[in-house]
Amino acid sequence: MSIRPDFLPFSVPGIDEDDIAAVTAVLRSGWITTGARAAEFEAAVCACTGAANACVLTSGTAGWHCVAQALLKPGDEVIMPAMTWISDANVVELLGATPVFCDVDPDTLLMTPELAEPLITEKTRILLPVHYAGAPVDLDGFRALAKKHNLILIEDAAHAIGTAYKGAPIGKTGTAIFSLHPIKNITTAEGGIVATDDPDLFAAVKRFKFHGIAKDAWDRYSKKGSGTVSGVVEPGLKYNLPDTLAALGTSQLKKLDAFNARRTALADQYDAAFADIPEILPLKAPPYPHVHAHHLYVVRLDSPKYTRDAFLAALREKNIGTGIHFKPAHTHPYYADKYPDATNHLPNTNWSGDRLFSLPLFPAMTDSDIQDVVSAIKDTLA
Ligand SMILES: *Cc1c(COP(=O)(O)O)cnc(C)c1O
Repeated sequence: MSIRPDFLPFSVPGIDEDDIAAVTAVLRSGWITTGARAAEFEAAVCACTGAANACVLTSGTAGWHCVAQALLKPGDEVIMPAMTWISDANVVELLGATPVFCDVDPDTLLMTPELAEPLITEKTRILLPVHYAGAPVDLDGFRALAKKHNLILIEDAAHAIGTAYKGAPIGKTGTAIFSLHPIKNITTAEGGIVATDDPDLFAAVKRFKFHGIAKDAWDRYSKKGSGTVSGVVEPGLKYNLPDTLAALGTSQLKKLDAFNARRTALADQYDAAFADIPEILPLKAPPYPHVHAHHLYVVRLDSPKYTRDAFLAALREKNIGTGIHFKPAHTHPYYADKYPDATNHLPNTNWSGDRLFSLPLFPAMTDSDIQDVVSAIKDTLA
């Protein structure tokens, strides 16, 4: 086989001239930090998802920090999948609370209510499932579980902008935290969104993301603002998304449907190709009605010939980039030291965690790029 001449990265952000024009217009405007463009982006997010309130911030991690700060006290427990990005656990640790790692379904790698329920104790406060790879978790099941045990359900929706569950976009009901990191389905370079229908939580997030002041600087300096400094009602941090990046977000959001349609078409091509490669095990779709955002195309390598890492090195030699989502949370050194027993009840996470990787998937990929990936995989396995 012939090796493609250029390296195919695992992800490339879809930035076009409209995006660049939107950002440069802000740079020329005289107001570059959080202001009218951030408010406009928040309104566009609400229109797109049906959310009652949206707060844009500097990262998804910042969004989770603001939410967790408002809801957790030291000693509380948060049930989350071990198959997630480590920021979910880090924030909980920093607040003196405890992450409780849950296993995932072996076919979808989604946390399920059935796997989470036995982990509930009198200390449990939050359920934090992840809409992994862009597929929604069983929200009816999690809502019922939260109600039954008087818990708060927070959705890690970092992969799920454009995902829908039983006809409703993620973010419309409850509290969902999106990420706008460059590999995510839309990007602001770095950024995040908290979408919530809880007005008290929304107010708490808005305060904590800006020093603990109930108003943004914009309200202070703009013509209609009061001109006076509002008081700090509690200590907060500095997580506001500047207008330069918010303008990029609004511009990107206009392309979300087209981006996700292209991701879906590419994922379909991978599905068809892997149907007859037994060593490559893609994820299955969850059984309930949903729209998949196809944030990641995750497969597991089940081969006697290769370890996952040796296989990825062989693909890199053939100019194919890949990612790993994720190294399970309980296997990071800090967590392995602190929670050594976690690994005993995570068989599905451990099995997939050793074998999984993410293939290139981004809207600008061509059909011939997909063929290059598939050929490189077939060639390596041959
Ligand atoms: C990307 C990601 C986050 C964090 O988002 P940032 O914007 O990078 O802080 C959280 N959870 C999951 C599952 C992610 O993939």
